Amino acid sequence: MANIKAFWVAKNKKLDIIYSLPAASDIHEFVAGKTNRLISNNPVFQQWTADKDSIEQKRVGDSVIYYRGTWTDRAALMIPADLYIADEVDRSKQEVVMQYSTRLQHSDYKWRWYFSNPSTPGYGVDVMWQKSDQKHYFYKCECGHWQYLTMENIMGDKPYFGCVKCKRELSRRYNHGKPNGWRASK
Ligand SMILES: [Zn+2]
Repeated sequence: MANIKAFWVAKNKKLDIIYSLPAASDIHEFVAGKTNRLISNNPVFQQWTADKDSIEQKRVGDSVIYYRGTWTDRAALMIPADLYIADEVDRSKQEVVMQYSTRLQHSDYKWRWYFSNPSTPGYGVDVMWQKSDQKHYFYKCECGHWQYLTMENIMGDKPYFGCVKCKRELSRRYNHGKPNGWRASK
């Protein structure tokens, strides 16, 4: 999903993007195993990325996505960007994540997306969560109960996303008259 969102933003918002993962080997695995396969299976992405592409950067429309590791000896990329996507934040080198965040200074957008399996409170992605507006994506069940998805929503022998109140399967598309959406949890 992050791959597709990055492509969309690069192509349609014309933003340059830095995409980081912990190590250079993660980048290789990610781009070769996911990004490139998405492109080769999707005629639209093929059009958007028509030129020859390396593992470390892709031209998407008029923009570029730079893929970089954080634990490499090389200095962090100096190129300015409009969007920084930090994937696997908690396994990444924190100073380098901070350095990449500063590459947005000259952008009108300064968009930052951080995601990770959280490790410890007060570290990595949790720091960003504390600074954020802390919104969750809420779904409305047919029974009227609003909820955001947690492990509690996975139920049944053949697992499905169910309502924590009535156990009905939650439709993640149909929203019973009111839009599903981002709300503050408190
Ligand atoms: Zn329900």
